[in-house]
Parts: sequence; structure tokens; C-alpha cells
Amino acid sequence: NAEGNVTHYVAVKEDVTARKVAEAKLEQLAVTDSLTGLLNRRGFFQEAEKVYARSLNPPYELAILMMDIDHFKDINDRYGHQAGDAVLREIGARLRDRLRPTDLVARYGGEEFVALLPRTPLDTLRQIARRLNAAICEKPVTYEGAPIPVTVSIGGAMLTADCRLLDELLSRADQAMYQAKASGRNCAVMFNAEGIQHEGC
Ligand code: GH3
Ligand code: MG
Ligand code: MG
Repeated sequence: NAEGNVTHYVAVKEDVTARKVAEAKLEQLAVTDSLTGLLNRRGFFQEAEKVYARSLNPPYELAILMMDIDHFKDINDRYGHQAGDAVLREIGARLRDRLRPTDLVARYGGEEFVALLPRTPLDTLRQIARRLNAAICEKPVTYEGAPIPVTVSIGGAMLTADCRLLDELLSRADQAMYQAKASGRNCAVMFNAEGIQHEGC
């Protein structure tokens, strides 16, 4: 009868909706870092491609920051792996809190984070890098009552006419970050047209 058909239809519809919800959850899990709740590397590239596609016209104002915790291995060794995990969570939260909702923030690797910043000229990028650096080194992370001092080394790069690919952008930021490590850590270094520029420690 008609009533039966309606019931059947509703049941199928609920079934489809439940499956879609489950699928969306799985998809979300696949792009999220479970420790920090940030995007994971896969999620970063998925979203970065979209941001990148919208940023391809001059003036190029797509900026990137790579951030790696300094001597993180020592933090694990000294305070324990759980404390290390707490540090990763807290640093992730500090970065996310200090960037715009339109900026992508991701956990790129073990103790490495990346931020992709649309509509960000170089001057602004420098300020943001200094601000993030300060937000981390100025206040130790507290774990079980113990203060754990944390610093990061930051490398920044901009999309330019001669650096138009996302991979290139990441590679430049990585080179700049390597310079930040080499020049004593706890600082930000920018890769720009003139090469690598130090922001000071
Ligand atoms: P540098 O200043 O040169 O960056 O030195 P580092 O010690 O930070 O770098 P290194 O690559 O030697 O060590 C990174 C450490 O991060 C090693 C690894 O055990 C640790 N690590 C990676 N993922 C996690 C994680 O999810 N939790 C914890 N607690 N540690 C992690
Ligand atoms: Mg490190
Ligand atoms: Mg590292």
C-alpha cells in the first residue's frame, strides 16, 4: 500500500544519508592529523592546490612558512614522549590561533608545521613569522606542571614570477628554514628575489 511505500522510501533515504555521513567522517579523518587536529600532509596538499589555483594572478601574494621545532628530540628525551606530544599539540594550537581562518595550517611531518597564507605580501609575511616565533619562545609549554621551553626555526617564501609552482614554493621555504637552523635556530629566514634573508634571532 501507499503507506508502506512511504516507509520504505524513508528508510532508504535514511540509509543513504547515514552512509554519506560515514563517508564524510572517513574523508575528514584521512586529511586530519589526529594528535593536533590540524590538517595532515595529505590534507594540506589537497587544500593547498585550491588556494594555489586562486592565487596565480599577479600581484602574487601567496606566501608559505615552514616551521620546525628546535631540538625536539631533546624534548622527548628529557621530558618523555607524552610531553613531546603535548608540545606538538600546544604549538599547533598557538599557530592556528594566530593565523587567519583563510590560512592553511598543517602538521607537515613529525615536528614540522606548514602554513599557506593567501593575500600576504612579503612585508606582512616577515611580521607574521616574527610574531609566530615570539608566540612560541616567549611562553614555555606547561606539561604536568613543568615548564618546557620551546623554540622553532622558520623558513618563508613567496610565490613570484620565477617561483610559480607549489613544489618550488615549498622547496624555497625549506631552504630558508635550513638556513634558520644553520644560523642558530629560534629565528625566521625569508627566501626572496635577492636570495635568503635573515630576520634575526
Ligand atoms: P632540529 O633542531 O635540527 O630540528 O633537531 P630535532 O631534534 O628537532 O630534529 P630530529 O629530526 O632529529 O628529531 C625529530 C624528533 O621528533 C624525532 C622523533 O622521534 C620526534 N617525533 C616525530 N613525531 C613525533 C610525535 O608524534 N610525537 C613525539 N613525541 N615525537 C615525535
Ligand atoms: Mg626539529
Ligand atoms: Mg624536523
